[in-house]
Amino acid sequence: MDSMQSNNLINNLRTSLDTNVIKQNYLDHLNLSLGKDFKNSTPWDKFYSLSLVIRDRIIKKWHETQQKYYKNDKTKRVHYLSIEFLIGRLLYNNILNLQIEDEIKNAMNELNISLEELAEIEPDAGLGNGGLGRLAACFLDSIATLGIPGYGYGLRYEYGIFKQIFEDGFQKELPDDWLKNGYPWEIERKDRAVKVKFYGRSEPYKDNNGHLRFRWVDTYDILAVPYDIPIVGYGNNVVNTLRLWSSKSINDFDFDNFQKGNYIKASESKIISESISKVLYPNDAFYAGRELRIKQEYFFVSASIQDIIRRFKAQFGTNFKLFPEKNVIQLNDTHPALAIPELMRILLDEELLSWEEAWEITKKTFAYTNHTVMPEALEKWEVHLFEKLLPRHLEILYEINSRFLNNVSKFYPNDINKIRNLSIFEEGSVKQVRMANLSIIGSFSVNGVSKLHTEILKNKVFKDFYDIWPEKFNNKTNGITQRRWLLQCNPELSNLITKHIGNKWIIDLDELKKLEKYADDKEFLNNFHNVKQKNKIRLSNYIYKTLNIKVDPESIFDVQVKRLHEYKRQLLNAMHIIYLYLKLKDDPNYDIVPRTFIFGAKAAPGYKMAKLIIKLINSIAEVINNDTTVNKKLKVVFIPNYNVSLAEIIIPAANVSEQISTAGKEASGTGNMKFALNGALTIGTLDGANIEIKECVGEENIFIFGLTAEQVQRLKESRLYNPYEIYLKNETIRKILDLINSDYFSKGNSELFSDIFQSLLFGINGGYPDEYMLLADFDSYKTKHKEIDKLYRQTFKWNKKALLNVARVGMFSSDRTIKEYAEDIWKVEKI
Ligand SMILES: *Cc1c(COP(=O)(O)O)cnc(C)c1O
Repeated sequence: MDSMQSNNLINNLRTSLDTNVIKQNYLDHLNLSLGKDFKNSTPWDKFYSLSLVIRDRIIKKWHETQQKYYKNDKTKRVHYLSIEFLIGRLLYNNILNLQIEDEIKNAMNELNISLEELAEIEPDAGLGNGGLGRLAACFLDSIATLGIPGYGYGLRYEYGIFKQIFEDGFQKELPDDWLKNGYPWEIERKDRAVKVKFYGRSEPYKDNNGHLRFRWVDTYDILAVPYDIPIVGYGNNVVNTLRLWSSKSINDFDFDNFQKGNYIKASESKIISESISKVLYPNDAFYAGRELRIKQEYFFVSASIQDIIRRFKAQFGTNFKLFPEKNVIQLNDTHPALAIPELMRILLDEELLSWEEAWEITKKTFAYTNHTVMPEALEKWEVHLFEKLLPRHLEILYEINSRFLNNVSKFYPNDINKIRNLSIFEEGSVKQVRMANLSIIGSFSVNGVSKLHTEILKNKVFKDFYDIWPEKFNNKTNGITQRRWLLQCNPELSNLITKHIGNKWIIDLDELKKLEKYADDKEFLNNFHNVKQKNKIRLSNYIYKTLNIKVDPESIFDVQVKRLHEYKRQLLNAMHIIYLYLKLKDDPNYDIVPRTFIFGAKAAPGYKMAKLIIKLINSIAEVINNDTTVNKKLKVVFIPNYNVSLAEIIIPAANVSEQISTAGKEASGTGNMKFALNGALTIGTLDGANIEIKECVGEENIFIFGLTAEQVQRLKESRLYNPYEIYLKNETIRKILDLINSDYFSKGNSELFSDIFQSLLFGINGGYPDEYMLLADFDSYKTKHKEIDKLYRQTFKWNKKALLNVARVGMFSSDRTIKEYAEDIWKVEKI
């Protein structure tokens, strides 16, 4: 046998799907990669070895995909820049997307290893806070599945979103040391490391042609090292790349200081450099303005732009006019907005293009996705910080701004207000850079994430920009990947669906429409019901195992899982629970279908009110769950540490999905879509994508309540909203709030929850009373819940509505969303 043949043989042995070969591969990895033998291998060793077996079967496809992109001159690459990727676990997801589940299961069975147990060993990659980061992860899955040449770019945080535990009902945060044992899905690419500069100054000089130019000098440099994670498309042999940057010191040791005998100081700069990618900021939709955060933003953005330019030059040289034809860069919110002046800087200062050329290229390259209209979430950085940290970028921003405002003033002469609103810079006691304005000015596309949200952007938040550039604005309603959020997390339902309509839904979710013909089929609905019951039992077991609470799988599972935010109104849910509790205390025979209220939510560590609401819900749970007069009918469970893996157990078990944000506040929501796809009925406001879910499933199959966004706005503007008046007039509400404000739930500490009471009735810390209008919506919320109770008693009717939800939410696949991005914004096709 010659060496070529033997290489092929070895290759085939590492990619074969033959049971014996898989087994042998597994044992080889255990032995040769980890140095363990079968008998002494720990669960971690087993997980790691199997992951390497899967990885072997990914890497060849990965190379082939990248080669294909490189060799094709027509390739246009999409770059998705996001400071968060909430990807969760990958082992089972990769097995499913490779379509090798049976083969792997067989091999593992023969080794007496349970794949399910192994999969749970994997750390949950929590490199994000909530919806925004999870969206980025769903998009990567869809981009690969659609065969689009795409790259995710982000940060390799050493510590992801904190682990949440409860101590006496209070949230406590523990570090998420997810990389401590190594991570089988990443490959370090030292050869692709780049330098990222900070500080220093901008120095003018004359180039060979006598033109004024600038260079950024006396900088402090940090190394950005990429770690690549393969993103496997579903059943199409495509493997794309998620490239996450890790910060490293350029010199581990400062030898000058070392020579001078200052040992500790000699390692200081290493510590400073490597702190950049140390930890994810745990704020969701909240801007905190920390210096380390803008360093993170610039760090990953600069490394990514350098990487994109390197790849372009390898293919097309310095013909930068081609750049926007071959590349598009999608900014996931404003966190990566410094990519705009960074591309300008490189084109001007390093590639020596003229301003006009560089700007033409830049504004044809970027597209911006807005994720929130809440003022406290909009990024604004002090100009002082820029002067110090990014002096050259500040100059570029001034130039972009002055050219832009010059044009604006031709259209609106002497309109100071317009100029003030549109400027990148906000004047005031501290001058600030508005990242949203920069993003709009530097992009050819600006999109919102649901119809309502996009309308609010166009008509309110960015109206002045919309008036100038109506064609820039567009909507891209969010979506979720059905591979993770149905196929993977709900195998029972997946099997039932596939048995009846085939498996095309896995890559074409509109196929679910075919389920409508079973809407009156007793046998089908019975099976559908049984699937839900199995999933409820699975969750009940988890709750019993981890929290030692017994819940009744026959009760209604009423679920609210999402980040804790006042605007998401977990407190409204809690008020309704207290309402039911008081009813039952008043009349123990009060006839309700038993309900289990399930919560999951992390609060940002510095968000006092959010943490107090967690404590309140835990306190309510303790009282109710231990009160034998009500606990046959009511249970409250707050599951700690909500993350992607928990979502995968909780969502398939839900009967009721709580999507109850104050109308106008939730840009889209994606949790709402996951629930509907798994056969839960939504109780929700006309907010974000709830509106579009209602349009798809039909208003008879969803429980809508509360004020509309317009009514909320009008009521606010009228200044007629007076929650204290409601409190005085509405006895039910008064009793609920008084109970919260008493020592009833707080074990004698009557002060504990007074901030909640005060905030609802009078406002605290300069905020409006009941800013999020819980009292305005309470009555209609309560009424809808009564309808839910009534409907659940009619099993057939309930199941029919639940099935019609599943059948009609095909449009909320992220495949649909990505197709729209690809056609309308990116102008890319699959290779
Ligand atoms: C989907 C998801 C979210 C977003 O939920 P919303 O209800 O849209 O806020 C947050 N966290 C996790 C872990 C998710 O899977």
